[in-house]
Amino acid sequence: MKTLYPSSTSQKLKSVALVGSGVAGLTRIRETHEASILSFHGICEGMGTDRVLDWSLHLPQEIFRRVCAFLASNYVVVSLQSVVDRLKAGEKPEPNSVVLTFDDGYASNYHLAWPVLREFNLPATIFVATGFLDGTEPMWFQRLDLALSTSTKSFFEWKSPNGKVRLPLGTREQRQMALGKLLPELKHMPDEDMLSEIGRIERALGTELPAVSELPEPMLPMTWDQVRELAATGLIDFGGHTHTHPIMARCSHEALRGEIFTCYERLKQELGREPRLFAFPNGGQGDYCAGALAVLKEAGFEAACTMRNGRVDQSSSLMELPRYGSPESVWEAEATVSGAFEAVKTWRKMARNSLWSILP
Ligand SMILES: [Zn+2]
Repeated sequence: MKTLYPSSTSQKLKSVALVGSGVAGLTRIRETHEASILSFHGICEGMGTDRVLDWSLHLPQEIFRRVCAFLASNYVVVSLQSVVDRLKAGEKPEPNSVVLTFDDGYASNYHLAWPVLREFNLPATIFVATGFLDGTEPMWFQRLDLALSTSTKSFFEWKSPNGKVRLPLGTREQRQMALGKLLPELKHMPDEDMLSEIGRIERALGTELPAVSELPEPMLPMTWDQVRELAATGLIDFGGHTHTHPIMARCSHEALRGEIFTCYERLKQELGREPRLFAFPNGGQGDYCAGALAVLKEAGFEAACTMRNGRVDQSSSLMELPRYGSPESVWEAEATVSGAFEAVKTWRKMARNSLWSILP
C-alpha cells in the first residue's frame, strides 16, 4: 500500500523535465551496474467511480501496457530473484536492469497485468498478503475505504488522539479527503489499537465488515489456483507480504512472528516450495524494524523490499532493498529507471557541498 493520491504534479513535471531535457537519456547511457525495482499494486480498466475511493492503488491497464512496452524496448527487465542471486554472489546487477513487483495479491494481477507481462515476456514478482488470499477478511485499509465510501452518514466526527475532527462526507471528494485524513493517522497507531479503531469507525459510520468475496472488483484478491497457474509459467514468482498486512513496526514481537511465519508457511503449502522474497507493507523508513529483519531471516526469507526510493547496487542490503512506487506515465518510468532522479539528487548535493566549501 502507498499514499492515497497518485504522484504529485511536481513529480510529473520533474519527470517531463528530466526526460525532455535529455538528462534521463544521459543517465541511461552511463549503463551503471544498478537495478531499479518498481512496485505496482492492482491494474484496472479505466478509473472507475464505484465504491472504491483510493484509485492510486490501481493503475489503468493502458498505462501499464505503455510502461511495459517502453521498458521491454529500452531496458533489461529481470526477475527480482536474479538480482538477489547476483548480490549474494558478490556480483553487480546487470547494467540498466529493471525489476517489476506487485504488492498485496490483487485478482487484477492475474486478469489485467499478466496478459501484458506475457505479451512482452517480462518477469515479475507478486508479494501476497496470505490472509487476504485466504479470504479471512479484507485488508484494514480496504475496510476503511469501504466504510467511508458506503456510509449513508453526511459527516463523521472522529475522536483522534489530538481531539475531535469533523469530516464531511457529503460528496465523493469529501469522502476521499476523509480517507486521506484518517489513513496517515491510523498508520501511526499500534496495530491492535488501529484495528479496534477501524471497528469503531465502521460502527460509527453504520457499516459492517464486508466479506472478502463481497469486495468491489478492483479490491478482490487472486485465488490460490491463479497463483499456482502464474507460478507454473516460470515468468511470475511469488513472495510474502505478511499474513494480514499490518505495518510491521507497529506490531508486538509475538504478532510479528505470527505474521511472518504464517505467511511463509501458507506460501509454502500453496506453492509447494519455500518462498524466498518478501516486501514490507507500506515499507517506508520506520514502517519495519530490526526485529522484523531478524524474524524474516529466521523464517527463511533471503531478501526483502522496502519502499525507500533508491537504486540497487552491489552494496545494497539484501533485507532492505530500495524500491520505487508505480510510475504513472512512460515519462515517469523513464525518469525513474534511467537513474535521472537519483543523479539530480547527487548533483544537487555536490553543488550544495561545493557552495558550502567556498563560503567563509
Ligand atoms: Zn501492501
